[in-house]
Amino acid sequence: MAEKGNISIHTENIFPIIKKFLYSDHEIFLRELVSNAVDATQKLKRLSAIGEFKGELGELKVKVKVDKEKKQITISDRGIGMTAEEIKKYINQIAFSGATEFVEKYKDKPEPNQIIGHFGLGFYSAFMVADTVEIISKSYQDDTQAAHWTCDGSTEFTIAEADKDDRGTDIILNIAADSEEFLEEARLQTILNKYCKFLPVEVEFKDEVINNPSPIWTKQPADLTDEDYKNFYRELYPFSEEPLFWIHLNVDYPFNLTGILYFPKVKNDFELQKNKIQLYSRQVFITDEVKDVVPEFLMLLHGVLDSPDIPLNVSRSFLQADANVKKINTYITRKVADKLSEIFRNDREGFQSKWNDIGLFVKYGMLSDDKFYEKARNFALVQSVDEKFYTLDEYKEYVQANQKDRNDNLVLLYATDTEKQHAFVEAAKDRGYDVLKLDNMIDPHFIGLLEQKLEKTTLKRVDSETIDKLVEKDEVKESVLSEDEKTKLKEVYEKAINNTNMHVSIEPLSPNDSPVLVTMPEFMRRMKDMQRTGGGGMMFMGGMPDTYNVSINANHPISQRILNAADDRKETIAKQAFDLALLSQNMLSGPALTAFVKRSVELIEKE
Ligand code: ADP
Repeated sequence: MAEKGNISIHTENIFPIIKKFLYSDHEIFLRELVSNAVDATQKLKRLSAIGEFKGELGELKVKVKVDKEKKQITISDRGIGMTAEEIKKYINQIAFSGATEFVEKYKDKPEPNQIIGHFGLGFYSAFMVADTVEIISKSYQDDTQAAHWTCDGSTEFTIAEADKDDRGTDIILNIAADSEEFLEEARLQTILNKYCKFLPVEVEFKDEVINNPSPIWTKQPADLTDEDYKNFYRELYPFSEEPLFWIHLNVDYPFNLTGILYFPKVKNDFELQKNKIQLYSRQVFITDEVKDVVPEFLMLLHGVLDSPDIPLNVSRSFLQADANVKKINTYITRKVADKLSEIFRNDREGFQSKWNDIGLFVKYGMLSDDKFYEKARNFALVQSVDEKFYTLDEYKEYVQANQKDRNDNLVLLYATDTEKQHAFVEAAKDRGYDVLKLDNMIDPHFIGLLEQKLEKTTLKRVDSETIDKLVEKDEVKESVLSEDEKTKLKEVYEKAINNTNMHVSIEPLSPNDSPVLVTMPEFMRRMKDMQRTGGGGMMFMGGMPDTYNVSINANHPISQRILNAADDRKETIAKQAFDLALLSQNMLSGPALTAFVKRSVELIEKE
């Protein structure tokens, strides 16, 4: 005889509301039901371990089956099961109270999309895809009667005796017409893969176990080899390059967190690398949006985090304010800094060889988090154009004898493109200066940070000034030209160059320096760089043309030669010297290059 009953809730029509609110996330029904089955199985295992359950455990797989004809999905377990009384208590009262609470909380929200994140709706999420749900269950306890519960999504249910000899629970979903996509095996396979891949009890679908019940993050680091970590990485991201290194997280207090974070080889396409950290709660996949849990500068890391202490059922703003989330975020930052520091101390060679990839994280971290800066300051590296690595302190020590200017400021020189800036790099080296290679997209920001943090230190790109002005000393260089000659020379060059964005000046450089140097002032170039890498507030630079300083070396023999040349030759020689300066910086192309080559040929013919 079937008993009928009423589910006592305060809200009428709960299901349409649940459906509406969770519209985009219908697929989580499977996660909820499979993890309930897993929980029931683990409870039985525990009862067996403490001697409360004395029977045979036997096979404990959770099985997911689909019957397209009958339009049914069945989730079966051999866990603790439920008696009719327990179903009434756990399903009708407890499960429903969760759903009611959810609706109470969100029914007045105008925009369902505001509910970001996943509300653990548990059992009742079945009604997002099924119009009738059945439970056939038999408790693990001896001499209990199996029960069959049916509910069509209204507030009414029936419960009757069932023919079931074996312990455990079958949840049968009679899939609704608008949810038939879930009867496709491929779709179910994808969902299981996404949410159930590391559930702690074997889950079978289409006669195959689809999960790895003991992923390595649940094990002790001492029991794992490097190969284990690499294999797991490959399992998570097939086709990826090997990770550089990893951090195994493991804390119980004041919050519970386990996981493994991998440092990947950095690719240029950052967006593709984002959202690669998967968040789990007791091995149930929750999301790969870990914003707030993981500090922004570590968003490019890969791996898994597993914490039952991260609230899963709340909106984004709440997550930001959550005390555990904040603590976890701080903890991860500290762990990453400690790990880097450890590698630096124990294996500096290895650390240096990976710097190209690690450097980006470290610099980003130093820029965005003061605490991280303080730690990273001791292991952050700079690299010279000669490929040598230094810590910041080592480098300051190394260059300070030569690179202090007359105001006792330390000037650090850098190149962003050693090919294009080759002539300037060589000139600096001839002076005994050292030049850093700062060619990463984050370096313009990093340079700003260093100037802000390091006392009495400025950084200048090696081609931002003539060599004498890069590190200004007290000595005054004499010019061999008279004031009149300088004025004359300047006029010749201005006419020859004929470009108002090229500011010509006559400088008393060494006769061994180039006859002409084209430089872009540091300030101007930084603005441009910032703008290119998306630094805010620089939009007004958009339409502004590049302006350069053209320094004519008064002491170079060519300057004298121009002054002495016949009037109709002066400009040609000046033009040629100027083009050579452009050419050495890869700034000559198109018609200007063609004209230069033609002029060169004519000049050689005249020799
Ligand atoms: P939660 O799992 O968060 O407690 P649910 O709505 O998913 O909420 O489930 C309510 C209760 O129903 C569970 O706590 C459990 O006692 C019981 N239950 C659900 N599924 C099963 C199952 N497969 N086997 C045994 N008990 C179950």
